[in-house]
Amino acid sequence: MSQADLDVETLLARLEASLREELVRRRLDDPAMIGVHTGGAWIAEVLHRRLGFSEPLGYLDISFYRDDYPQSGMNPDVRASKLPFRIDGRNIVLIDDVLYTGRTVRAALNEIFDYGRPAEIVLGVLIDRNGRQIPIQADCIGGRVELEPGQRIKLVGPEPLQLTIRAGGR
Ligand code: 5GP
Ligand code: MG
Repeated sequence: MSQADLDVETLLARLEASLREELVRRRLDDPAMIGVHTGGAWIAEVLHRRLGFSEPLGYLDISFYRDDYPQSGMNPDVRASKLPFRIDGRNIVLIDDVLYTGRTVRAALNEIFDYGRPAEIVLGVLIDRNGRQIPIQADCIGGRVELEPGQRIKLVGPEPLQLTIRAGGR
């Protein structure tokens, strides 16, 4: 995918369309949406609004669940998760910004199951990048990007929405 294709609005529109299709295909009624803090949160906010979900948006902070998160020291960015609906028996749409190694999603699934047993989970990510280390795939994506190991996608949101590819850093 070239830089010209990395228009955030286009990626968001593709992800939204794909989620609509997937929810219909799997006949998932009245789903609830959860965004992964921090990057996935604003993307989830946009999609939650556009798809018109009845339940309020939930947020997950999985910093403590990441298997490679440093065990010592407090991260000031760590927030408590906020899931304002029952997980048991519910259809869930889980949203993150970038799917890379798969470890964040693995951790997010663990945390969701700590709250209860969902019926089905649909995973939607704005960008699927190469570099998976564990077998986790998205159901719905906005776009795919092939990056060199040292490269990183820089996403700036919510307004104005911008996306660039950089060598390293955040
Ligand atoms: P993973 O756990 O799959 O290795 O990485 C995914 C998580 O790390 C996502 O929650 C995402 O926010 C962040 N992430 C991984 N790679 C990138 C990247 O290139 N750019 C941005 N903005 N976030 C990334
Ligand atoms: Mg993240």
